[in-house]
Amino acid sequence: MSKHILVVDDSKTIRNLVAFVLKAEGFKVAMAEDGLDAIEKLSTIDPVDLILSDINMPRMDGFTFIKTIRQQDAYKDIPIIVLSTEGQEQDIQKGISLGANLYMVKPAQPEKMVRNIKMLLG
Ligand SMILES: [Mg+2]
Repeated sequence: MSKHILVVDDSKTIRNLVAFVLKAEGFKVAMAEDGLDAIEKLSTIDPVDLILSDINMPRMDGFTFIKTIRQQDAYKDIPIIVLSTEGQEQDIQKGISLGANLYMVKPAQPEKMVRNIKMLLG
């Protein structure tokens, strides 16, 4: 069965671009436009196998989103890849320490993103 990936980004352009790449690889894709929307989507899609999340978003940013879901039993083990324009070491450290499995800086090469997803999905 194809794996379900939740793409979280406030940019519709990025969401559509990432979704296009993932669908071409056979993944099922759901999208959310910020952290709050993503939490809502998590409760309606079962299971979400992996999350790709932006950091800078309105209402709830990626750091808060990751921190929030890592405190919940149902979501604490879902692999998370951050995809952000913020590439400073302190941002990467923060993302990883809050519970992201990987941190990728935009623009990310599609092949590299897909390779990382497949690696995390085992
Ligand atoms: Mg953003």
